[in-house]
Amino acid sequence: MANFNVHLMGAVTVSGVTATALTMTGMFPHQAVIGYFVLGVIGGLLPDIDSPHSIPVRIAFMAVAVAAGFLLVFTFGRRYSLVELLALWLGCFLLLRYGVFALLDRLTVHRGLIHSIPAGIGFGLATTLVAYHAFNASVIHAWLCGAFVTLGFIVHLLLDEFYSVDLLGKKLLKSSFGTALSLGSLSQPIGTAALYLTIVGLFLLCPSPRPFAELILDGATYRGVTQRLLPGEVWFPNLLPRLPPDLPGR
Ligand SMILES: [Zn+2]
Repeated sequence: MANFNVHLMGAVTVSGVTATALTMTGMFPHQAVIGYFVLGVIGGLLPDIDSPHSIPVRIAFMAVAVAAGFLLVFTFGRRYSLVELLALWLGCFLLLRYGVFALLDRLTVHRGLIHSIPAGIGFGLATTLVAYHAFNASVIHAWLCGAFVTLGFIVHLLLDEFYSVDLLGKKLLKSSFGTALSLGSLSQPIGTAALYLTIVGLFLLCPSPRPFAELILDGATYRGVTQRLLPGEVWFPNLLPRLPPDLPGR
């Protein structure tokens, strides 16, 4: 099995189950839950952005570059002319595709610092920060966005640990076991220290996680979910509308 597919399926499954449980609490609008799900899936693919030559990463990068262009156009759509918007879009695309992409390629080693637990936490915090400040999300919504990214990210690391296969699906040496769930890298002490400092900085910039933590730790949040964990005596009661009693031919 190709590793990319394993990661995609893993992220879709875990995010899907978590998002479904959130829907059952009845506390979150549907659009928000879909957003969390998508963020969880993105989180599940993020750790491998440090191997830019794998085809899925290249495709994902192209998609991000295009999406970022759209975001720019949506933001400035009412202010500028068509030609200016196209120039913005093209500039954004080229910057991401040839600037950031090339930089990532030169700076990162696969399964280096980006492929670690603190990086997963950092990406989650950055998501919370952007959701809160740039998209005016509520505190709980912003933290849920970040939590899903980190959740998907950790699922990816766990899957790498279990499968110990590389991006092309080839078996790695046994020695790779234990490297996926890393807390940093002793061979990159400065990078590791910078990573932890970044996490602290991001956390301080984020809104207080207290309302989010209270909601997550409150048993009442899950009452509806635990009560409906398993089907009752009948599966899918009232799924189909009852047939009218006087159907012709009965
Ligand atoms: Zn990986």
